[in-house]
Amino acid sequence: MQELKTTIGLEIHVQLKTKSKMFCGCDNDAQGKAPNTVVCPVCLGLPGALPVANKQAIEWTIKTGIALGCEIPKIAKFDRKHYFYPDLPKGYQISQYDEPFAIRGRMEIRNTNSEIRNEEEFVTVRINRVHLEEDAGKLIHAGDKSLVDLNRAGTPLMEIVTEPDVTSPEMAGDFLRKLQKIVRDQVGVSEASMEKGHLRCDANISLCEMQDTITKKQTPKKMSPIIELKNLNSFKFVEKALALVEEKLKSEVDSWPEKLTKETWGYDSVNNKVYLQRRKEEAADYRYFPEPDIPPFDTTVFDLEKMKEEIGQGEEEGVANLIAEGVAEMDAKSLFANKSKLSQFEVIKEEVSDKVLLAKALVHNYFGAELSGAFSTKDIAMALDHLSESKINKGIFAKITKEIIENGRSFEELISNYLSDDKAGDLEMIVEKVLLENHKEVERYKSGQTQLLGFFVGQIMKETKGVANPQIINKILREKLS
Ligand code: ZN
Ligand code: MN
Repeated sequence: MQELKTTIGLEIHVQLKTKSKMFCGCDNDAQGKAPNTVVCPVCLGLPGALPVANKQAIEWTIKTGIALGCEIPKIAKFDRKHYFYPDLPKGYQISQYDEPFAIRGRMEIRNTNSEIRNEEEFVTVRINRVHLEEDAGKLIHAGDKSLVDLNRAGTPLMEIVTEPDVTSPEMAGDFLRKLQKIVRDQVGVSEASMEKGHLRCDANISLCEMQDTITKKQTPKKMSPIIELKNLNSFKFVEKALALVEEKLKSEVDSWPEKLTKETWGYDSVNNKVYLQRRKEEAADYRYFPEPDIPPFDTTVFDLEKMKEEIGQGEEEGVANLIAEGVAEMDAKSLFANKSKLSQFEVIKEEVSDKVLLAKALVHNYFGAELSGAFSTKDIAMALDHLSESKINKGIFAKITKEIIENGRSFEELISNYLSDDKAGDLEMIVEKVLLENHKEVERYKSGQTQLLGFFVGQIMKETKGVANPQIINKILREKLS
């Protein structure tokens, strides 16, 4: 039986949320502003205007590269990519050609074909490069006229290009969802909303008929045209459009051309259909050459080790590590999603014996106050150890931790106020005092109104400022009242 193998490569543009644009000082946030008002000679492409590269955008691109496991070459440069379009007044885009900021990365994703083909559960999608460029303006079509708005011209765009390692439409969706989390949550450089166009995806898909499936020889015998889908603007649309093209190519296997061909297709999300836009004869020649107004960039000016620390772990890795420490899966996920609680966990866990309880206490808010400010983690850890050994209950734990966090009191001092067995003598005196002061209630209790026990407990708690152990109070009370 013939086997058809799907090959998908992705190109993703991510809009960076820097304060200013890529090569000028214009505001990078033009939302709600009138067309062509957030512009200057540089982003309008006026002759003689000089670009100055945005350091923040470069730093963020390198950081994203690191998060994607890329190598960071010591030297990077910008190049001019020439093409004509009405929303590109310079006649070229400043981009990066052969010396981008990050190369050769990787991302692990779940292999949706693993069961069908008996393959590995995870596959590595290699990242070819991460480079930085400027966005073009926008064309607005109004009736028979086209209008140009250059507010978006010069917005920093990070382009991430994968190798063709994705083997199903669902995996393309998974890759994008994971990438979105990395740039939005882990590295924090973009809002990465596909709907708003902060994250735009182009996909290339082709099918191969394999030579011999019995001996598992992975040599292609025949290849479909390469279909490019441009500007897909939701995860679902990426998956749907790719699935439609995949289906179409499969059904046409007998009429695949001998010669390699390339076609650009569009996706109509309203009718869930794909349609041919154009056939490509030859690769476009952009006549790249080094941008003469921006010198090559020395990336060693950045502290890459510090960047690595700032990025931390990705979600999957982080959750897996928490689970490995014994934390329940649900707790691990919520803990990882809350960066401030996660960092508290990392600090306090060194001092407690029960990390699982620490995670629970953080996720389910056992503490009497928000864990912030300059509280003593050592004292918090001691309180947790007491809770773990059931020496105190959750209510007392909350009271003690509130005092530690808000008033900087020490655990030792607080726990000595808390009347334990060896202080039962003091507690007995308090119980006697309370019973004496409420002799009428004592009589009623003795005549059968045993529900008054709760009233006595309450009075004693008040007297001891709430730190007494209710179980011990109950025990003493029953003795005195019997
Ligand atoms: Zn500008
Ligand atoms: Mn690009």
